Amino acid sequence: MGSLDKKPLVKVLADKLEKPELDNRSYRVIQLSNELEALLVHDPDTDKASASVNVGVGSFSDDDDMPGMAHAVEHLLFMGTEKYPVENDYNQYLTAHSGYSNAYTGSTETNYFFEVAASSEDVGSQKNGSGNRLTNGDLDAVTSPSNADLPLYGALDRFSQFFIAPLFLEETLDRELRAVDSENKKNLQSDNWRMMQLDKSLSTKKHPYHHFSTGNLATLRDEPRARGLDIRSEFMKFHAKHYSANRMKLVVLGKESLDTLQSWVEEFFSAVDNKSLPCLRWDESGPYAEEDLLKIIFAKPVMESRSLDITFTYQDEEENNLYLCQPHRYITHLIGHEGPGSILAYIKALGWANVLSVGTNTVSPGFGQLTIDIRLTPDGLEKYEEITKIVFQYIALIKHAGPQRWIFDEIKNMKEVDFRFKEKSPATRFTSTTSSTMQKALPRELLLSGERVVREYNEAEIEKGLSWLRSDNYRIHVTSQEFPGDWDQKEKWYGTEYRIQDVPLAFQEAITNALNSKPEDIPKELHMPHKNDFVPTQLTVERKEVDTPSKVPKLIRNDDAVRLWYKKDDQFWVPKASIKITLRNPLVSITPANSVKTALYTMLVHDELSEYSYDAEIAGLEWDFNESNRGLNISVSGYNEKMPVLLEKVLTCMRNIEIKPERFRIVKERIIRSYRNWEFAQPYQHSGSYIQWLRSTIGWSNDQLLAEIPHVSVEEVAEFYPQLLKQVHIEVLAHGNLYKEDALRMTQLVEHIIKPRALPRAQWQKKRNLILPEGSDYTWSRVHKDPAMVNNSIDYFLYVGEINNPILRGKLLLLDQIGSEPAFDHLRTKEQLGYIVWSGSRYGATTMGYRVTIQSERSAEYLEKRINAFLMVLSKNIEEMSPKDFESHKRSMINKRLEKLKNLDSEFGRFQSHISDEYYNFLQAEEDAESVRHITQQQMIDFFGHYIHPDSPHRAKLSVHIIAQSSPKEVAPTLSKDDQLEKIQNTIEKSLVASGVGVDTDKLRARLANVDILGGDQNGITAAILTYLRDDAQIPEEHVNMVAEQAPQLLSTVLPALGVEVQTDDKNLPPVPEVKATTWIENVPEFKASLQVSTAPIPVVDLSTFEELEPKL
Ligand SMILES: [Zn+2]
Repeated sequence: MGSLDKKPLVKVLADKLEKPELDNRSYRVIQLSNELEALLVHDPDTDKASASVNVGVGSFSDDDDMPGMAHAVEHLLFMGTEKYPVENDYNQYLTAHSGYSNAYTGSTETNYFFEVAASSEDVGSQKNGSGNRLTNGDLDAVTSPSNADLPLYGALDRFSQFFIAPLFLEETLDRELRAVDSENKKNLQSDNWRMMQLDKSLSTKKHPYHHFSTGNLATLRDEPRARGLDIRSEFMKFHAKHYSANRMKLVVLGKESLDTLQSWVEEFFSAVDNKSLPCLRWDESGPYAEEDLLKIIFAKPVMESRSLDITFTYQDEEENNLYLCQPHRYITHLIGHEGPGSILAYIKALGWANVLSVGTNTVSPGFGQLTIDIRLTPDGLEKYEEITKIVFQYIALIKHAGPQRWIFDEIKNMKEVDFRFKEKSPATRFTSTTSSTMQKALPRELLLSGERVVREYNEAEIEKGLSWLRSDNYRIHVTSQEFPGDWDQKEKWYGTEYRIQDVPLAFQEAITNALNSKPEDIPKELHMPHKNDFVPTQLTVERKEVDTPSKVPKLIRNDDAVRLWYKKDDQFWVPKASIKITLRNPLVSITPANSVKTALYTMLVHDELSEYSYDAEIAGLEWDFNESNRGLNISVSGYNEKMPVLLEKVLTCMRNIEIKPERFRIVKERIIRSYRNWEFAQPYQHSGSYIQWLRSTIGWSNDQLLAEIPHVSVEEVAEFYPQLLKQVHIEVLAHGNLYKEDALRMTQLVEHIIKPRALPRAQWQKKRNLILPEGSDYTWSRVHKDPAMVNNSIDYFLYVGEINNPILRGKLLLLDQIGSEPAFDHLRTKEQLGYIVWSGSRYGATTMGYRVTIQSERSAEYLEKRINAFLMVLSKNIEEMSPKDFESHKRSMINKRLEKLKNLDSEFGRFQSHISDEYYNFLQAEEDAESVRHITQQQMIDFFGHYIHPDSPHRAKLSVHIIAQSSPKEVAPTLSKDDQLEKIQNTIEKSLVASGVGVDTDKLRARLANVDILGGDQNGITAAILTYLRDDAQIPEEHVNMVAEQAPQLLSTVLPALGVEVQTDDKNLPPVPEVKATTWIENVPEFKASLQVSTAPIPVVDLSTFEELEPKL
């Protein structure tokens, strides 16, 4: 046949997209012949290329009896393809090209994405390769050698195969399901997950909103197997049933021309199978059936928190072309308002609440929710019925007022300004969010702007939107650890304690009355907002093109009182700016009591200003006031026009605040709660924070702060804060669309309002770190306070040197690069230690080192051994690495360090971090890249041998172990030996039954009798079980093999949970080296006292080189 007929037809759906003013990307939307839709993005300036595929199926499509299927498929899809069967080929390829990948599963979508370097240094000379313009699917011509070297080309090739011919490799199945299980365990103690699932579990079974979306080993492996299912084939069936080209939206962003990108997309994605599947809908019922409404659900959170949530059923605005007027924006703008007259302002003044937020979402096509979430004070908890009434009274108020054009215009105006000056987002964030947006029914020309801009004032639609806020279609959640206390049920998947009841008649009547209030019955404290004076009107940017944007700010004032850093934007051209002011004062953190008083002071200033500054916030101007070890920090950022107005208000409040006892009480309760709640954070967060604390000379631990709180009174804070302002050194960074005069004037504002004396340099707080001596090995351990926490964690830190050593910094960065993929592959993928596995460099105030962090059900001591074993593997990797691979790692790291700044904020952030670290090394990234460029493989081997290798006599190590209360060490003493034995035998029997094997208890126990169960002899236990299965139960060999495969992993979690430390000598795992014994830290102050301290930061170049001083105004 003539080849002409076979050329796939590509439809262009849009060749221009409505875009922000400064966006120099070009866009094209196409549809391949298999109905796969793709957005091509040519970005001439990007240094990262990226792609994302969004598949229009998610956890709502899980089988009712196999929750987590969609999520499991998302994990398994990456395990090898026919073209690239090696399971970690994809990630190795990405890492070698400065990239990474990730994915997520939603309720109706699954999103996959990656990023890589936009170009490879090697092909710099063949740039004209992209000139071979190809607009059709002529395969041979496209695979020219120049393409093959382009990182994006190779990545797209590998990526597309996951959607064409995934293998679902049998041998990776168990491991990936364990990764899913570990992910679920990580979420088990998280209130976000728990409360989300509680609402889902208490909704109708007729709608898949009811599903448990993550899945775990029981739902995805053990139970289906017990029902006789071949789970691998179930996952493949799910994929076959739901994955289809017409449900896929692809976004590809690269440096190449749109024509080149199009040719690649055609080349790689035309082969995705099109099954012409319909869009998924669930129309039988909404997420809540009638009997699920008008309920109150009382739930007990893990963290100390109190909240009242009111959820209404709402329309799906995505469905009915409502993108033009988006009525929810009008409604949530008013309900969520925090200025005078708002719900929050009123209930805050009553001392009942701290935070109110409101939002809408689409649950599934045709069904939405509108949720009002109110964070309560202890008094507010008692008044939750009153607060609910106030909410309904305010809704009555909005309905009485009717749609107001000027309010809509204010919203429309701000949305337009925000879109017009929207800066580029990083490549991966752009591709993954946009591929998701493509699932929506927006005109393709409006893919970027459709949801961000409101276009039409439509009174009828606003009224229709408001008509969903009724007294017959809501439900209420009340969350608190104390109230009402009589929770009588437990949610199935997370174990959340709760009670559900009908809204009592009297309460329902009160709500209905509130909603039917006449205008005169509504409390006068509630009223519509006033006009917002913060909306910017001047949006001009003076553009002065420069050849190369400056990489350093200038020092335009440098005297005893003030250091003022300034850079006028020279590349992003948005009417925005940021200013950060640090008032240096060592008093801030000199004792834990001072730290607590300072924190209370900053929170009180926030509390005082929140009503006033809300207008600024919604007009795109944000502020913050907080403390660090150096002193107090004030920042204001956003549209620069009204910046000085807000800054003046913040400074005046800081200076003059009169602390009201009733506000003090509320703020103090909040801070106590945040300290207490921190104890319930994830174990890895604790180990990461403690390892920094153990190495620091200043800064206090959570316990130390908490201990001071009861002794702090309102009078003390009132007396204390003026001392923080009395004598300070002022350091300012002013950056963006500002003139020098603006920067100087705002700095003078600080001096005029605060009126401080200058703080001489000799009195500035000096930052230092403690230095771990050569050859040292320390471990500090701590038990996690959450009794239900199942995870342990370890932070394993190897000291390398001081931060201001560019050569060591370069080597550490390169180690970070070389080690990250193998660490993930060994510790997470192969050994399945846990979902959280990180490795890389860790910086302190002045020193740095290499760290490995793992959160796991396995004991911290076991993790310690596995990290040692991994370091032996890594050592060999580096020694045996081919020169080509070594160079590619170097290139990858250099690319990362030289990555372009994406927007104004990222440049501000970079300057700010170099100022606050006090090295003022604005060119550190360039210095790092240069340092990496010169490292030889032999130097890396020597570096590793000295600082990292477990055999090295020079290395200096500090580990932090966070131990779960359910860990063997903690559990063992709580159980008698007989109990332990009994429970273990029981669990083994139960899991055999679950995997479909009948159990003769006596015979099995007889086999187990000869094994040292309590000694954790895992291999012995496994052998006994297998003997029982073969000789006593006489089950088929196939089945025995399956059990043999699962047993070690089962035992490795069952035994520790019952207080037995597992003894493994798995011959498949890399061997554990002998290392010298560790020194346990018993007394932290003594430990700290025994160590030397580092030098404090000194600017890397004389600051006068940055000076460009102006005569004083
Ligand atoms: Zn996952």
